[in-house]
Amino acid sequence: EGVWRLFKLGISAHEDPGKDFWGVSEPLLQEIAKVLEFPVASMLPPEAFKVVRKSFDARKLQKEPKFVYTVDMDVDRLLILEPRTWEFISELEPKVGVIERVPHGRSAGDLISIIRNYPKRNETAASTDVFGRTESYKFPNTRKPKVAVVGSGPSGLFASLVLAEFGADVTLIERGQAVEQRGRDIGALVVRRMLHLESNFCFGEGGAGTWSDGKLVTRIGKNNGSVMAVLETLVHFGAPSSILVDGKPHLGTDRLIPLLRNFRKHLQELGVTIRFGTRVDDLIVDVERVVGVKVSDSSCSSESSSQKLGYDAVILAVGHSARDTYQMLLSHNVDVVQKDFAVGLRIEHPQELINSIQYSGLAHEVQSGRGKIPVADYKVAEYVNRKDMVTPLNSGPIDRSCYSFCMCPGGQVVLTSTNPSELCINGMSFSRRSSRWANAAIVVTVSSKDFEALNFHGPLAGLEFQRAFERRAATMGGGNFIVPVQTVTDFLDGKISETNLPTSSYRLGVKAANLHDLFPAHLTAALQHSILLFDNELPGFVSKSALLHGVETRTSSPVQITRRSDTWESTSLKGLYPIGEGAGYAGGITSAAVDGMYAGFALAQNLGLYNGSM
Ligand code: FAD
Repeated sequence: EGVWRLFKLGISAHEDPGKDFWGVSEPLLQEIAKVLEFPVASMLPPEAFKVVRKSFDARKLQKEPKFVYTVDMDVDRLLILEPRTWEFISELEPKVGVIERVPHGRSAGDLISIIRNYPKRNETAASTDVFGRTESYKFPNTRKPKVAVVGSGPSGLFASLVLAEFGADVTLIERGQAVEQRGRDIGALVVRRMLHLESNFCFGEGGAGTWSDGKLVTRIGKNNGSVMAVLETLVHFGAPSSILVDGKPHLGTDRLIPLLRNFRKHLQELGVTIRFGTRVDDLIVDVERVVGVKVSDSSCSSESSSQKLGYDAVILAVGHSARDTYQMLLSHNVDVVQKDFAVGLRIEHPQELINSIQYSGLAHEVQSGRGKIPVADYKVAEYVNRKDMVTPLNSGPIDRSCYSFCMCPGGQVVLTSTNPSELCINGMSFSRRSSRWANAAIVVTVSSKDFEALNFHGPLAGLEFQRAFERRAATMGGGNFIVPVQTVTDFLDGKISETNLPTSSYRLGVKAANLHDLFPAHLTAALQHSILLFDNELPGFVSKSALLHGVETRTSSPVQITRRSDTWESTSLKGLYPIGEGAGYAGGITSAAVDGMYAGFALAQNLGLYNGSM
């Protein structure tokens, strides 16, 4: 009885119906029969099986690229639809990693899907047992607890959702604009070089992840209940249900924007007050507890727009670019500590080259994202050691990890600066990933030793380190958001790319420069060495048509705002809940959303809105 999961069912790319088909095909049924050792595939009813994961695997080691499936078999359904399988099924044994029982029960992460589908509070009265409670919602006070959520990125949105569903009086405060206005502000940046300081690729509704590639992969792992809860919530707000099955789910900017509008509408229907264009400038602290925030209209520089708002708790979901907010926290002696992160360059290749490196003979099947197999991506990582270096340098520590990051197939390089004197970049794409270029950050890890080497000390040393390279990149580009570039071959040779620069997807213009002038020599050497190693793995990666863009600095937060693991409160200030990427507890859209969701549960519990276990 129950559900059994079948793993690693491989179908050759030629036989498979393709990347946009998520059902149970004839070849898949045959593969299922093989794994089950069931003699007659045609007897297996497709309706008894559900694809829970489908990935494309083009690893060089195998003879033929394959789609690899994970499939759930509903035994009860199978027996109803085809009773003759009974004798065979009754003898089936689990085999680790091949056939496993899907455990019963509910994880904490599933709760969010449950509350979403849960009848409205006024319809339920004293009936629910969803969280193991038998009474209606109990508030410690006669009024609803008031919570400010600062930042409407994935972490802030999910925290707001959970808290609002539990009945808190939530105000979501966002310095940037709603997606409609934000789209116009980003348009003005890309077309007229006008950087709106508070509404740009980092700030605004949906946070940094809105004008992004919308990759939803996370190291937490997709089998984790909380990740599935986040993905299901996104589907509820308009994401295609294929993200629940796709091994490398992604949305693309065009899908994220309507999704965010639906998310906003839902929050408003739950009673959440959303204040766009409103920046939190300060915390109001009374006897070592946050009791409110000072806000101002972010589009207005005058003091007169400043306002004080009182709250029972403040969730800080500000992302990694809120440098002024980090500074403000230090003025209240909030515990903020340095955190390792990574810096580097963004490499861009023609997408066709990456397709042919990854798929060789099958590359033509990609057809700008319209074809049978997905637009090719890559992920490379190496540990670089001083003793391996071709030209060892003595200028600084070399042993460190180098890896590709935030790879955007069929995407474009975009400007993620939040200040005109600083220049930093990232990548985004649309859902079809149909541009001519493939870009990815190539980064090296940096830590306090690197910050100290440049004389940056204290909790914000990493931030100063980022800023130093962003300023240098802006100067090397010559201003106006022009990005300094160098072909990868010239970067390896250390010479400026004088002529025949390959075209770039970056819309604000590029300028040939020696990117060796950007980072200290030991970081440049580590980047050079790792690029050579990546070429061993992906022959053709080092190419005259590959262009390196400077600079990629905001791979993750340079600090951690420490919090308690039991209550999720700041270790130094009661009532303050630092969450998401900016607090150093997440990296990427999905993990930030998961962090926000758990923070919502933790705070709901602390406020007495929820007494279930986490
Ligand atoms: P954020 O999304 O950064 O949100 C923080 C919000 O807080 C912002 O909207 C900001 O305006 C607001 N805020 C800051 N300070 C204040 C203040 N004082 N008052 C009021 N509001 C404030 N990740 C992926 O997983 N997949 C991808 O494909 C991907 N692509 C990316 C592409 C780009 C161009 C960028 C920039 C990032 C990308 N990322 C991607 C990273 C991802 O966007 C972040 O990891 C994620 O958004 C972090 O979520 P968050 O909620 O912690 O913070």
